[in-house]
Amino acid sequence: MFERYLTQIAFAKLFPDGQRKLMQTTVGIVGVGGTGSHISDLIVRMGFGKVKIVDHDTVEISNLNRQSLYDEYDIGRPKVLAAYEKLIKINREVKIIPINKKVTEENVDEILGDVDIIMDGTDSFGARGLLNRFSIEREKIFIFSAVEGSAGMAKAIIPKKTACLECIGYPTYGDSVPCSVNGLIPNVVEMAAAISVTLAVKSLLDYVEDEIVVFDSWDLSLEKVKTKINPSCKICGHRK
Ligand SMILES: [Zn+2]
Repeated sequence: MFERYLTQIAFAKLFPDGQRKLMQTTVGIVGVGGTGSHISDLIVRMGFGKVKIVDHDTVEISNLNRQSLYDEYDIGRPKVLAAYEKLIKINREVKIIPINKKVTEENVDEILGDVDIIMDGTDSFGARGLLNRFSIEREKIFIFSAVEGSAGMAKAIIPKKTACLECIGYPTYGDSVPCSVNGLIPNVVEMAAAISVTLAVKSLLDYVEDEIVVFDSWDLSLEKVKTKINPSCKICGHRK
């Protein structure tokens, strides 16, 4: 049963109960663009139990330099369908559910109400703000990540245990600057995805610290900065 996962289980911190925990976990990946493609690939290969992939975009040629689930034959197709077809060939033991929708205040509970971990593959402040609020209200783990240029950051948000996006002053409304404006080096989305999946696994197994990881795929730097819950945070400060 574990043959597929032999090498990761040989890593002491995952052996063998950690792997069982992954296999019992449902993950919601919101946005399967650059970071979300690589997150989905890792999450499915590592054998999480159930994975919901959520996106409302179609594949464009300008996506192909960094969005690893897609190829030229997918141009014009809904991302979640192309992603689903790739992912089920990678690991049939994982239940994968494609959802071709934009997550909104109205449908977030219907789409993500049954997941244990929400992974951020979005590209706007507003979408991240919504996921941050929802994860606090419903007490779900939220793995935030954002990239621009060659730089990125990622943070595990665990209700009542760590600071949320509002606590650290990250903007939670409106659109971000499109990645066509300041550019984006493809390598940084892989770095963001690798760090995000590490944070997801560590959160599940209770290894995570209250900190934000700041990195740069051009400078080849990585730094962890301590964060803490702001008692007057309007999203999470009042929760006990
Ligand atoms: Zn907060």
